[in-house]
Amino acid sequence: MSIPADVLRLGTEVATRASTTVASDGFVAVLDHVRAYGESSRAALAEATGMGRSVLTQRVEALLEYGLLAEDRIGVSTGGRAPRLLRFRADAGHLLVADLGATSTDVALADLSGGILVHRQEASEISAGPDAVLAHVEELFDACVDEAGVSPDDLWGIGVGVPGPVEFESGRPVSPPIMPGWDGYAVRERFADRGVPVWVDNDVNVMALGELTAGSGRGVDDFVYVKIGTGIGAGIVVDGRIHRGAKGSAGDVGHIYVQAGREVVCRCGMSGCLEAFAGGAALGRDAEAAARDGRSAILRALLDEKGHLTAEDVAIASKHGDPVSVELITEAGRLIGQMLTGIVNFFNPSLLVIGGGVAGAGDLLLATVRQTIYRRSLPLATRDLVVRRSALDGRAGVIGAATMVANELFAPEYLPGWLAAGSPARHA
Ligand SMILES: [Zn+2]
Repeated sequence: MSIPADVLRLGTEVATRASTTVASDGFVAVLDHVRAYGESSRAALAEATGMGRSVLTQRVEALLEYGLLAEDRIGVSTGGRAPRLLRFRADAGHLLVADLGATSTDVALADLSGGILVHRQEASEISAGPDAVLAHVEELFDACVDEAGVSPDDLWGIGVGVPGPVEFESGRPVSPPIMPGWDGYAVRERFADRGVPVWVDNDVNVMALGELTAGSGRGVDDFVYVKIGTGIGAGIVVDGRIHRGAKGSAGDVGHIYVQAGREVVCRCGMSGCLEAFAGGAALGRDAEAAARDGRSAILRALLDEKGHLTAEDVAIASKHGDPVSVELITEAGRLIGQMLTGIVNFFNPSLLVIGGGVAGAGDLLLATVRQTIYRRSLPLATRDLVVRRSALDGRAGVIGAATMVANELFAPEYLPGWLAAGSPARHA
């Protein structure tokens, strides 16, 4: 992107005054509105932002020059001449994103609206450590850029989701239980060679953002996304934004204590955690025990065939009517519902989105979760509560990581700086 000198000067001016005037707010407000709706007339913008006509015109003209807005469609006339529509140019820059799970890596090249242009998913083990995992991510990034034929100059940012707690400010994982070698690792600095800003967050927060942008949470201001995969975690959306909490560990619901009637030590070292009974790893463990004890012929057959069992095997066996597997899934659903009852009574969301590999295992789990919540919650908290499966499945993470980067690039604290520099890359 090449920026005319007078626009650069305007950007510098904006950056200098950013903290004390509404100049940057004007840019952010205009961009936020057009990004949210995809397109807008100047009249609708004036109404939404409350900006005066001349200021608005100046902001819009500058954003048109930056190439962040385009004006090329004719809207519907409300009498008189039909207005031209301003549209957000999602293709003005590109983003590289990675969603790292416990056992898989999703990498994508996205546009500035979270639209996925190239997506690759590969099996990988997060426990292999940051050097091996991120080297693999780098290779996949290169493959995505090559496949899309995007110039490195058009890369504006990188977003990474990791399966553990992250200090959002520094982008470093903090004591992640299933990520040996990742504690305090400088993920952001690892990608410094690409010369663009990097943001890192917990994978479940990123998935919740994906649901908010393009999935079941679209248009919903207060909802909770619950991922039931190898482990269990939640992303909390409050007033349309991710709630990370004081230190970034909000939503770590897998380690909430539940009444399971037995003691199992969790991988975090404590006893009685939800995840230790109802996570995918726990279901696989309990299914293997049942197979070895001779309690389930079908699980025994699956174990003999594969050498180990996963939550997916339990789902398959339950669909064939295996009573042990039905009981395992029902019990997991009951315990997840027990935990979510606390969340519902405390937070009063209008929507719970259930995602992750185990959630995809079938209707039995979701039905049990729903039943438990309705039975145990206060009537007012569940009056309009919707409990729904994720519609995005494996794409929630990459869409959400792209949204995270776009939100940060266009945030009031960041936008003026890189507009002044000419591009996010020059400002990184
Ligand atoms: Zn735990």
